[in-house]
Amino acid sequence: NEGLGSWPARRARKTPHRTALIHGGTSLTYARLYERTTRLAHALRARGVRRGDRIAYLGPNHPAYLETLFAAGTLGAVFVPLNTRLAGPEIAFQLADSGAKALVYGPSHAGLVAGLPGDTDVRTYIEVGAEYEEAVAAAPYEPVDQTVLPDDTCIIMYTSGTTGRPKGAMLTHGNLTWNAVNVLVDTDLIADERALVSAPLFHTAGLNMLTLPVLLKGGTCVLVEAFDPEATFDLIEEHRITFMFGVPTMFEQVARHPRWPSADLSSLRILTCGGSPVPSPLIAAYQERGLTFLQGYGMTEASPGTLFLDAEHAVGKAGSAGVPHFFSDVRVVRPDLTPVDVDETGEVVVRGPHVMPGYWGLPEETAASFADGWFRSGDAARVDEDGYVFIVDRIKDMIISGGENVYPAEIEDQLLAHPDIVECAVIGVPDDKWGEVPRAVVVPREGASIDPDEVLASLAGRLAKYKIPKSVVLADELPRTASGKLLKSRVRKRYGINSQ
Ligand code: AMP
Ligand code: MG
Repeated sequence: NEGLGSWPARRARKTPHRTALIHGGTSLTYARLYERTTRLAHALRARGVRRGDRIAYLGPNHPAYLETLFAAGTLGAVFVPLNTRLAGPEIAFQLADSGAKALVYGPSHAGLVAGLPGDTDVRTYIEVGAEYEEAVAAAPYEPVDQTVLPDDTCIIMYTSGTTGRPKGAMLTHGNLTWNAVNVLVDTDLIADERALVSAPLFHTAGLNMLTLPVLLKGGTCVLVEAFDPEATFDLIEEHRITFMFGVPTMFEQVARHPRWPSADLSSLRILTCGGSPVPSPLIAAYQERGLTFLQGYGMTEASPGTLFLDAEHAVGKAGSAGVPHFFSDVRVVRPDLTPVDVDETGEVVVRGPHVMPGYWGLPEETAASFADGWFRSGDAARVDEDGYVFIVDRIKDMIISGGENVYPAEIEDQLLAHPDIVECAVIGVPDDKWGEVPRAVVVPREGASIDPDEVLASLAGRLAKYKIPKSVVLADELPRTASGKLLKSRVRKRYGINSQ
């Protein structure tokens, strides 16, 4: 077995007594992780799961998630993580689309699973808890003999679907291994790392930028079912957490919390932030405490690590997403695929051993998303004279006002510097004169009252006139995906009508 499924066995051989996973009051050594994973693989095989079959998982962060992933990899089966926030019909779609034969699910989702339509291919249902434990205990603890090669698909991970219908990115064992190697090469991650895994494991970042590299190295992952800022402080202090990954909204909630000034954060060594644009006021707030963000830019289709801003450049190049990971090639190109000049905006394209071979069952979409072997990210960026890439925004979210390209992220960054604004989204609304003009949708800080004219006045002189929103709408909250990405299409639907 040359795949991910062999990692627990290899770790158990090298570091059997080190702690791999902590969850609530329980902890698992690498030896136990290997034993449980092997037994689960036999249990799944006894239920008819074979190489190439799909096994879906639906539930919050839990050791069973990783055991099922490794057991699937042991059998050469394909792991399909499902987003716990999806509704029944969305889950049913992904089960049918992937043709999953087995579904392992958490008790929190028993009701949803009971209500699923009966016409999927799922034949085996295992609920985490007593049923899962019985299946593991009843299966033999002996090596599984199964050929698994680096190019075999390991995971089908559905893209978060900020646009259109979710597509299943096929990630091979090789893709995920190279990604983990990139993280190990480009950070100072050590075997004594204690990582806080509060980002959801069903999204690429929590799994691939945090958990898998730590397990490859032999460190410890503390699994948390749901991110909560209060609990984050407790866990950091209790476990002397050294490594955290989060999307910007998570780090923002931590920095806004009343415990932020007094909490003991001295154990933290590596903080990686990414997944969506990282606002500069956020970087500054952490820097004031001597905490430096490493920034990661990537996408599900690239396993996801693509660009990385390392510790050495985190301050000097703050705001940049960095340079390509060690085993990654990135270009910022014009529509004809020629590289842009310094400071010219173009599209990020990526190539490397961490980039997926394609979308599951979608040859046309796959072909359309590659150009000349490069995966097209759909993101706009510019490159400085040292080769550092600055992500500008998603190309699809660009507003064209009076012939000028306006990237909402730049305006949002400025709005977030306002002391009374905690969240915001800038969208384009139709305008007779300019074609489209920017509108700001802002969430005020609790208890604060916001004067739209004052907000707009605060932008004057900091942004070109055509970038300054023509209207400000107040909102209680903004629609986001489980990974913290703004659902711009939903913001546009709700706030983009011109009667506002
Ligand atoms: P996903 O397909 O869900 O993995 O999301 C990938 C997308 O998230 C990218 O195409 C970017 O639009 C966005 N993204 C990820 N990391 C960053 C970052 N560091 N800065 C800005 N945008 C990011
Ligand atoms: Mg995407």
